[in-house]
Amino acid sequence: MRHRRGINLASPVDYAVNLDRETLGSLPEMFVLVAACPLCLKSTPLDRWELGRRIGKHITLATLARRLKCSGCGNRAGNGLLLGQLPRD
Ligand SMILES: [Zn+2]
Repeated sequence: MRHRRGINLASPVDYAVNLDRETLGSLPEMFVLVAACPLCLKSTPLDRWELGRRIGKHITLATLARRLKCSGCGNRAGNGLLLGQLPRD
């Protein structure tokens, strides 16, 4: 799957990111977050900085995932997070 800006997306496991431990604040800046709905398969880029301001940057990514609501179909169950890595230049 590709981010709209051409960033490769992968499961957090592939980046050795532990969703139960990393928070919006602790996740390295090079990562972008994308929400993925298991029902309609829609994926939506999340603005992690805006989220951090709104709900607090100490929330773990696992907790964040449980609070996601799909903007496509409204599903709240089982939404996942994908990570993308910004190119370094
Ligand atoms: Zn959906």
